[in-house]
Amino acid sequence: MPVVNTVLGPVDVAGLGQTLMHEHVFVISPEHVDNHGRGAWWDEEFRVADAVAKLRAVAAKGVRTIVDPTVWGLGRYVPRVLRVAEQVPELNVVVATGVYSYDEIPFHYAHRGPGLMMDVPEPMVEDFTRDIVEGIAGTGVRAAFLKCVVEGKGLTPGVERICRAVARTHVETGVPITVHTNPSAGTGLLALEVFGEEGVDPAKVVLGHSGDTNDLDHLMRLADTGATLGMDRFGLDAYNPTSSRVATIAALCERGYADRMVLSHDTACFMDYFGAAWDEGIPLAAPNWRFDHIHDDVLPALREAGVTDGQIDRMLVDNPRRYFS
Ligand SMILES: [Zn+2]
Repeated sequence: MPVVNTVLGPVDVAGLGQTLMHEHVFVISPEHVDNHGRGAWWDEEFRVADAVAKLRAVAAKGVRTIVDPTVWGLGRYVPRVLRVAEQVPELNVVVATGVYSYDEIPFHYAHRGPGLMMDVPEPMVEDFTRDIVEGIAGTGVRAAFLKCVVEGKGLTPGVERICRAVARTHVETGVPITVHTNPSAGTGLLALEVFGEEGVDPAKVVLGHSGDTNDLDHLMRLADTGATLGMDRFGLDAYNPTSSRVATIAALCERGYADRMVLSHDTACFMDYFGAAWDEGIPLAAPNWRFDHIHDDVLPALREAGVTDGQIDRMLVDNPRRYFS
């Protein structure tokens, strides 16, 4: 039986159960916190306890696993995630490695690499591989998947270098890839093109944020490659309202694509993009953007739209298991 590394150690893929494939425990930039958060809106102990309570509530809905694609660029800090996960052993938390950039490469990699000022092998491959094989920053927690981005600017030199480093690490280690895409700009196809050149099997790729579009032809074209569509921003109604997301998933299920979709919210226990406004502002600005929206509202709506319990199981249980197998 294949195993997947979670924050608390390896788990049989059969034990992943209902899995939300794209959620964040924390999105917190250390520079933001250290310069503007401390003494203002940042309270470490409060946030850890708050995350524990929120993740316990997720588990109480029947979710057994969340997959957290927070990497460099989104403020990954695994020791804090570990503190939370230890207090919620009923929920598996799977963490990632990679780099999140819409355009340029972080300065910390810009001058190191093949043909650069410091002419060394691709340092991102080295760093990503260490996270997967040895563990992250001395915690012993191992990353179980890779994350990169192809946004509206397309394959800028920085984005392409990150995607190739992710693809090469995948080929060497076998762990799957989640790529943030912009489906309105068709960037899933760009990502798959680069991955294909590097020898990546699309079956090991989740095309994140595919659910932001309702263009069935585009979604079927992506799914026909064998890649999995991340229908993963439920509650972010500003990008696409729940009713449209549900209708799109139902239409794809009817066309035989239930085995090519996964579900999630892309929310977080705390995200510093909103600073002090997170706790009171988000419930007003995006009232559906919560960890329980799928179980409370979306699954009933999918059933109403003709999606069967078997198809829901495929999206919540079987497809995540296949991705990590
Ligand atoms: Zn995300």
